[in-house]
Amino acid sequence: MYRSHNCGALNASNIAEKVKLSGWVQRVRNLGGMTFIDLRDRYGITQLAFNDGWDKELLEKARKTGREFVIRVSGEVLERESKNLQMPTGEIEVKVSEIEILNASKTPPFTIENDTDGGEELRMKYRYLDLRREPVQANIKLRHQVAQAVRGFLNQEDFLEIETPYLIKSTPEGARDFVVPSRMNTGQFYALPQSPQTFKQLLMVSGYDRYYQIVRCFRDEDLRADRQPEFTQIDCEMAFVEQEDILQQFEGLIRHLLKEVKGVDIQEVPRITYAEAMRRFGNDKPDIRFGMELNEINAMVQHKGFKVFDDAELVLAISVPQAASYSRKQLDALAKWVKRPQIGMNGLIYSKYNEDGTYKSSVDKFFDEAAQVDWHQKLESKPGDLILILAGEKNLCRKAMSELRLYMAEELGFRKADNYAPLWVLDFPLLEWDEESNRFHAMHHPFTSPKPEDLALLDSDPGKVRANAYDLVLNGNEIGGGSIRIHNREVQSRMFEVLGFSDEEAKAQFGFLMDAFEYGAPPHGGIAFGFDRLVALLGGSETIRDFIAFPKNNAGRDLMINSPSAVSADQLEELGLDLSPSQEA
Ligand code: ASP
Repeated sequence: MYRSHNCGALNASNIAEKVKLSGWVQRVRNLGGMTFIDLRDRYGITQLAFNDGWDKELLEKARKTGREFVIRVSGEVLERESKNLQMPTGEIEVKVSEIEILNASKTPPFTIENDTDGGEELRMKYRYLDLRREPVQANIKLRHQVAQAVRGFLNQEDFLEIETPYLIKSTPEGARDFVVPSRMNTGQFYALPQSPQTFKQLLMVSGYDRYYQIVRCFRDEDLRADRQPEFTQIDCEMAFVEQEDILQQFEGLIRHLLKEVKGVDIQEVPRITYAEAMRRFGNDKPDIRFGMELNEINAMVQHKGFKVFDDAELVLAISVPQAASYSRKQLDALAKWVKRPQIGMNGLIYSKYNEDGTYKSSVDKFFDEAAQVDWHQKLESKPGDLILILAGEKNLCRKAMSELRLYMAEELGFRKADNYAPLWVLDFPLLEWDEESNRFHAMHHPFTSPKPEDLALLDSDPGKVRANAYDLVLNGNEIGGGSIRIHNREVQSRMFEVLGFSDEEAKAQFGFLMDAFEYGAPPHGGIAFGFDRLVALLGGSETIRDFIAFPKNNAGRDLMINSPSAVSADQLEELGLDLSPSQEA
């Protein structure tokens, strides 16, 4: 027997019991004639005690262990002299009568403690050691809890968990596919799913009217910070539903998760349209936990002789609470911040509404106090507030102001991790013009249904067509997105046409789906949640890597197994892939 208890189990009620524990040596402390070992496993840490006076040989043995040795001990539970009431096991220690080294350990490359000295790279390389750390374990455990809560809720609502294949054919969702060469079909490739989109729609045709899956998806995108080439979705689909049914069903899911995992009750989830989100927040995933909404003030400030405003397509202002006290230096730093290429503005204009009722701006030469009073009135500022103004091309200006708004909120502590404010964003445009390829792309994906009332626009003004698509946003993060789907063959063909597919291309790629639509496809729709991000947010973090057992780094590499890597010439030959330079030339 390796253990009678785990390392987190023993407390004062076990005093005088004989126990057996196994685990890892977190720390050895030698104090004169005494040695203490902190023994760790997934459940906690228990202090082991050795004493010269009790057994000299045993003490010597204990001193031979080192960090991360795996040991088994037997002993008796004693009441500790100096108790640590912060720890569940802090009232006791185990007086060891037998110790056995089950396996030695090299000195680990970083300390396996809550605050480790290991840098990101080192911890990724030795991820199996990093995973021993308590905060990482807590994240992995949270992930498990969220997954179980999702299953619990959806099962109760009559959803079936159904697996779909990983080796499939390309499903366009806006990213590149990872492809897998087929040995048995030389020169042909599978694609890994960017999502189970077409399969879940086929399941609706098959009559499985409530489906879900917690499923891995693969997208070969240019990596941005904290993106994973493989990630997990809670993928859902329902038949015989309208948008309203989906919104209510999945509002229920998010409410259940927040309650179950965080003990938080949320009110009804507010809804805004995409157009409104862009206007009020400059962003289609607004953080609504604080105000500072965007105000379009062109009418108030243009044609007053200030060229920067006069030349701008859009002049946007926000009122930042309690920031009139910002110093010249701080304001200069902000101006510098908006001029960085990532933000791309030419400058930042401010107007202070000081606590003493006076006004001061960076454009006093052009706008007198009365003008500034008007601004602050329009933005409903209070004494002590600071108005920040950006001017420029509409989309650029909105994007920049959205960034600035979030930056200020972060600075001022308005973005509290434990404050959860979900939001539905509705009525996304169906199509998005792509300058590069000079044609329309589906904003969500090609299976998304246009709003019936906008269908006619598909011929006259495709860019104006709104989709039956929705996103669920949490604290400024898109955590879910979906749509009501097209279930009619003609409409789907028409959609492919608008997207620039020839008839043959559409048939070759999606013939199976369009064929299925001819055999009684019910109206249907669905949604998918980014599971990694959702778990991270519930864990109070925005770093999804920390909530994945074996993540890849920002360059898409697994530093532990060193992947991706080359494969042998034999393997390539077997696959019919000749990558030799002579062939390429
Ligand atoms: N397949 C979509 C996505 O991955 C979600 C959906 O439309 O259900 O974003």
